[in-house]
Formats: sequence, C-alpha cells, structure tokens
Amino acid sequence: MKRGIERVFQGTPEHWVGDGFHVSNYFPSATDFEKRMSPFFLLDYQKPEAYAPTTRKRGVGTHPHRGFETVTVAYQGSIAHRDSAGHGGVIRPGEVQWMTAGGGVLHNEYHEQAFARAGGVLHMIQIWVNLPRRDKLTPAKYQGLTTRDIAEVPVDGGKGLVRVISGSFEDAKGAASTFTPAHMLDLRLKPGGTVRLPTPKDFNTALLVLQGKVKANGSKPASAGEFILFKNDGDEVVAEAVEDSIALFLSGAPIEEPLVHYGPFVMNSVDEINQAVEDFNAGKFGSLTD
Ligand code: MN
Repeated sequence: MKRGIERVFQGTPEHWVGDGFHVSNYFPSATDFEKRMSPFFLLDYQKPEAYAPTTRKRGVGTHPHRGFETVTVAYQGSIAHRDSAGHGGVIRPGEVQWMTAGGGVLHNEYHEQAFARAGGVLHMIQIWVNLPRRDKLTPAKYQGLTTRDIAEVPVDGGKGLVRVISGSFEDAKGAASTFTPAHMLDLRLKPGGTVRLPTPKDFNTALLVLQGKVKANGSKPASAGEFILFKNDGDEVVAEAVEDSIALFLSGAPIEEPLVHYGPFVMNSVDEINQAVEDFNAGKFGSLTD
C-alpha cells in the first residue's frame, strides 16, 4: 500500500558551515521533530552554487564528532576530507563518503584544492546517521565510495536509474555498510520515468528533490529543494519524474532510544554529552592539523 504524504517543506534559509558550505537544513532544526527521520538525524543541503576561484582553503577546519556517522554525497564539485584516524580522500561528483565518527574523531572538510583554484559549482548533501547505543563508541571508520562501488539499477525501461548508496534496491546491495537498516538511494529519472520503492511501514521515509520535478504517491509535483515526508502508513513509495530529475530517497528503521544532541555530539544522555566534551578537551579524539 502506498504511504500517504505527511508534509512537504523547504529547508531553512541558507547558513554557512565554515566558509565553504552554504547549506539549508531540513532536519532536525527545520521541523518540530528530532526523531521523525531517525536513524537519520540531520540533513544539510548545499544547493548548486557557484564559488569564485580562490587560492586559500575554503571549508570547515578541524572539529570533532562522536556518536554517529557523517555521510557526504557530492553531485557537483569536489570535497577533500582528512581525519584523526588517518583516513582521508576526495569526494568527487557521484561519489559518497560515509564516515563513522563512533567513539570520536576529528576531521576537516574543504573544497578540494584544484576545484577551489578553478572555482565552480558545488552541489552536495551531508546527512548525519545516528548510531544505536551499542555502537556509539565503535572505532572510527571511513568508507570512500566511488562510482564503481555504487550499484546502478536501471528502472522503467531505462527511464530511470537507482544508485544504491546504502541498504538495498531490488537485487542490488548498498555500497556502504550500516549499523542499522538504512536505505539511501540516489534516483536519476527522465521525464515520465517511474520507480517503485518498497520499504517497511515502520521505516521513517522521505524524498528530497534536487533537480527537476517529481510526483510521489499522488503528491503535487515537488520542485528542487522540496522535501516530501511520508506517513508511516504504507509500505511503498512510487516516484514519477515530470522533468529530468534527481532525488534522494531516505528510508530507515528508527532507533528507539533517548537522544541528546549537543553541537557535534549525538548521544543517549546528558552524562554522555558531558563525557564527550571532557574527552575532546582532554585530547582523546586524537590530533589533526588543518
Ligand atoms: Mn564534520
């Protein structure tokens, strides 16, 4: 049965993350829910925006995270990343970086040097995926997913393509391993292209349109920047593109645990937040220079 539409909304007005990411937030701050999209905790969207050439580093300097994962999806432009666990890499268009902060990591995120020097359009998303209590302090991990790693499933006789970042779609398995079930699908649809996305009823589920216009489960066509939150009252989403479209489908099993969020830390209790601050200040997250 098709899910109903709970709400269609735009993100907040853009704000700067460092000096390199001009993002609109969709949750948790844009809405009155903190857990409505659990296990996904945060979504920041950098709409396509042209950056002038520069020779300086543009982005966000070294900062900590604990208790969750950051997932960066690049559509246009390239982002360079380094962390205190010794991981690093460049996220190019079509690629995804899935970083597990777990027990604690320091990292920095900049426009990749050649991209910054040339200037150009940056179009990307960062999603925070919460970790369940049992995995909050798991060792930091880094999954750099290239276009070769991400399975592409043609749909509707070639009028659509589903890129399976995590979870599964039809027989294809997601490129990223996750701690709890979470489908993250990059949908590319031509005009009239339709895709049927089955998902368990209790999974929190949404579709963010990034380009073009997409109808889902009988909604009005949603335009770029519109976020469709589905009710948990059915087990499928049917998305149909009205124009050449790109959309991100998120659907995951909620983590039914208390949640306390403070800046870059997402934990289960205030005590754990205090511990995170203490450990960070004591240098237990390692060291990293910008
Ligand atoms: Mn970060």
